[in-house]
Amino acid sequence: MNKHYSRILILSGAGISAESGLATFRSSNGLWNNHKVDDVATIEGFQRNPALVHDFYNELKTEIQKAKPNAAHLAITKLQQEYPAQIDVVTQNVDTLHEKAGNQNIWHIHGQVNQAVCLNCGHILETWGDVDTQTICPQCQVMGMMKPNIVFFGENLLYMDKVDDALRHCDLFISIGTSGVVYPAAGFVQTAKYYGAETIEFTLDQTANNYLFDRHVYGKAGETFPPFVEALLQDIKK
Ligand SMILES: [Zn+2]
Repeated sequence: MNKHYSRILILSGAGISAESGLATFRSSNGLWNNHKVDDVATIEGFQRNPALVHDFYNELKTEIQKAKPNAAHLAITKLQQEYPAQIDVVTQNVDTLHEKAGNQNIWHIHGQVNQAVCLNCGHILETWGDVDTQTICPQCQVMGMMKPNIVFFGENLLYMDKVDDALRHCDLFISIGTSGVVYPAAGFVQTAKYYGAETIEFTLDQTANNYLFDRHVYGKAGETFPPFVEALLQDIKK
């Protein structure tokens, strides 16, 4: 490559978390941790049985809190600390492994598991403790209006103004561990490419939108991404 980039956007998906031992959001049989996606990841499911949905995310939170970032997450931190560019991390993951690794400028477009949003006033409560149908909003004091701050199927993605801006202005777009199947995130590469960014993906398997990438690096991101970061850092010294 041997080029100096001024703005880099990293899009991460389930694959990077899987390498830290976290189950992927949607497996092929439509179940997530043995729950039906319809029950725990849709607005209808939440309206039908909010207690069940809260239980599910409380349990998931405990599992996620134990997980540790891997070499790919840590390489992002190194890149952000040592490479002279604006570097944003847009993640489809609801875990906080990017935060644990020390990444900055993280945009959780599908929400994050350690947050709940008050449907009455919009307040976002950040906690690793349990949230349930009895939880009182610390801002408006109303009980029972907390929803996990997870983007359910059919809801709009979060932070899209920030993401759109980054997609239009980045000169390097990096995808790590995304399947290229879940829209609209699967279309991000197309926007970045349209506005002139170089595009590269780090993936275990061939992705559904692989024709939009200039380069493909196959394998575990924890093994392939750190050497890529080293190469970028070498390039700026030339
Ligand atoms: Zn409230």
